[in-house]
Amino acid sequence: MEKVIKSDAEWRKILTPEQYRVTRERGTERACTGKYWNNHRKGVYKCVCCGLELFHSDAKYDSGTGWPSFWQPVANDVIRTEIDPSYGMIRTEVLCARCDAHLGHVFDDGPKPTGLRYCINSVALEFVEGK
Ligand code: FE
Repeated sequence: MEKVIKSDAEWRKILTPEQYRVTRERGTERACTGKYWNNHRKGVYKCVCCGLELFHSDAKYDSGTGWPSFWQPVANDVIRTEIDPSYGMIRTEVLCARCDAHLGHVFDDGPKPTGLRYCINSVALEFVEGK
């Protein structure tokens, strides 16, 4: 996949301050404050930075965390992961594979069949209603 690479100044131009803080500075939105944790519509969730399709509503579930949660991405190559040792925890960070946007983290307490919980910030996503 061809990378989307922009300078910080370019990202700041196209993102809101909150989108920039979360996706480019590894921020986190407060639980239950995002626009998608309680979204039950059918459609696809794209990267807010580069538009790459990341998650489908078919793999979204109610995790009770207050963040949109998915048990798998639309394809394995649309995301990449990194070990995140911040805040005294060892977590696995989830990033957009195309533009390196910070999306959230993945945990191993999700539902079948994958057993994974992709815990994603709403502000890192752009929902497009559809099938
Ligand atoms: Fe992206």
